[in-house]
Formats: sequence, structure tokens, C-alpha cells
Amino acid sequence: MKNPPTYRDEVVPFTARDGFACNLIHVLGKTSPTRGPVLLVHGAGVRANLFRAPAEVNVVDYLLSLGYDVWLENWRGSIDLAFNSWNIDQAAVYDHPAAVDAVLSHTGASTLKAIIHCQGSTSFMWAAVAGLLPRVNVIVSNAVSLHPVIPGWSHLKLPFAIPILKGQTAYIDCQWPDHPDSSIARAIVEAVRLTHHECNSIYCKMVSFTYGAGFPALWSHANLNEDTHTWIHQEFGKVPITFFEQMIECVRAGHLVPKTNLGLPADVTAQAPQTDARFALFAGLENKCFLPESQQRTYDWLNAHAPGRHTLHLIPNYGHLDVFMGKDASEDIFPLMAQELEAA
Ligand SMILES: [Zn+2]
Repeated sequence: MKNPPTYRDEVVPFTARDGFACNLIHVLGKTSPTRGPVLLVHGAGVRANLFRAPAEVNVVDYLLSLGYDVWLENWRGSIDLAFNSWNIDQAAVYDHPAAVDAVLSHTGASTLKAIIHCQGSTSFMWAAVAGLLPRVNVIVSNAVSLHPVIPGWSHLKLPFAIPILKGQTAYIDCQWPDHPDSSIARAIVEAVRLTHHECNSIYCKMVSFTYGAGFPALWSHANLNEDTHTWIHQEFGKVPITFFEQMIECVRAGHLVPKTNLGLPADVTAQAPQTDARFALFAGLENKCFLPESQQRTYDWLNAHAPGRHTLHLIPNYGHLDVFMGKDASEDIFPLMAQELEAA
């Protein structure tokens, strides 16, 4: 069992640019930071706490040990905030610029670095290349950014399932095994029980059903310790159908496409990146949610605009989330991310 953390949280509320109430968790270590702020941005249907899996050393522990000032963003996709049928353009235009402003205002720093994951990554990268995050100078992105590519099974499952679900529920909830709130919820939990036999956690199986093609979809069981496999239960919740609808359109287009008219270009890749930030893209080669090809395509696009400036790390034996939650990620992954945060 991991020792209790030696840090405490300061919750800093911030208001997104459309008025939506979000917050930041400022993680205060035993000593004052010796390096600048790093903002960590979670994915869909989870929350800021996702970065604090009970591995012996998680990414927050690791960054604190290096002296970073660590901030975790709860944007509108967080299960700690009011449920809403969000899309990623709203997160890009309304949430992340306001979060960056809040961190810089609180710390007095002039710039910050970011580590972003999945839909926190798509939306944050979108904001960055659209010129909305001029004070973010290094961005470490995991799994997917501007060019989502999904496995063949998801190509079949999503366009078939989402229109059916849409008429019956506004969300899929990985907490449904505890409190199914509709007949479709009960049917899905039963279907997951009947078709997934990879482990004894119905919550782990619900996550696989919801987010990918695999048993399990977002991690390899061999990469997680037992505490983390149990901890998953409390970390995954509702994800709106609107998100899946948007992702189907993005996958078909081959790049992110907006759902609302917030001033983002219809094709995010049609213009050069409007930022001086340096990008380090990570992808687990075993990712069964978004294929590593996703990050490869974004890297190729970035590299075409600034040859040699950005980096791509394709990581063997890791998938989607064990990159952060894995028991050995502090040896296999975090040093590479820290190296990228520090590179000139
Ligand atoms: Zn499992």
C-alpha cells in the first residue's frame, strides 16, 4: 500500500470564458517549488485526480520531487464538475485559456508548461495551435491530439451505438453498475458483464466498453498494481453522448472539427500552428483507444511546419492510460516527460 501523500491541495476556482464554473487543484509539496508551474489536463469522463493513481510514484509525486509547481485542471469534462453535454471546442476556447490565466495570475509566472492527456490533449492542443495559449511554452501530449485515429472495432461500434444511445440517455456512466438510472443503463451493464471476462472489476470492464476496443482497452493489467486497479472505480464517471458524436466526425474528417461556431477553423490543420510552443507527443504502442498513428500524424504535421523542433515518443508495452497510471511509469515514462519539459 502506498504511503499517504505528504502534500496538500489548494482548490482554486476559475470561471471559463462562457461563465462555466471550473477549478484547479494546486498541489502544495513539503517545500516551496524551485521550478515553474506545470498544468496537467485530464481526459473525458474523469477528473484532475486521474494523475494521482496509487502507484508507488505517480506523475504528481514525480514532478513535485523535481521541484515543479504542480496544477491539476478540472475543465468542463471533469466528473467533479456539474454534468454538461460538452464538446471539445468549448474546452479549447472557454476553459483552457482561462485555466492558464488563473495559474499565471496566481503564481506570478510569465509562462507555464503543460502535460495533457486524451480529450484534455485534443482540446488543449487545439487551443494552442489556434493561438489561444500564447503563454504556454512546452506541451507534453499523450495519446491523441489533432488527428484522432481509432481501431477498426471502434469504427464499427461507435457509429452504430451512439445514435441508438442518443435517444435514451445523455451520457454513458462508468458508475452505472452501482446505480443504473435507466433501462438502457441496466442493459449496458448486463451486456458488459456477459461480454467482458478479462478481470473481476465491473468498473474496469465498463471503462473498456466505453472508451475503446480491447479487454482491457485503456491499460494492460500487467502494468497496473492492485491498488490502482481498485482505485479505477472512483475515477471514471459520466461522459456525454455529444463527445462521442463529435469524435465520430473528427475521425471521419481525419482531424478535429468544431461542433459550435466559436471562431475555430473548420480544419485545424489548414493553417500553420499559431504558437511558439514546443510539442513532445507521446503514444503507447499498445493504445486500443486511439491508435499511435494519431500522434504520428500530428507529429508529421508539426514537423512539416518546424522541422526538428518537436518530438514523438512511441512507447512499447504501454497503452492509453498506463502511461500515467502504470506501476513502473515513474521509471519508463516520467523521466522522458521531465526531459521534454526541460529541453530548450
Ligand atoms: Zn481490470
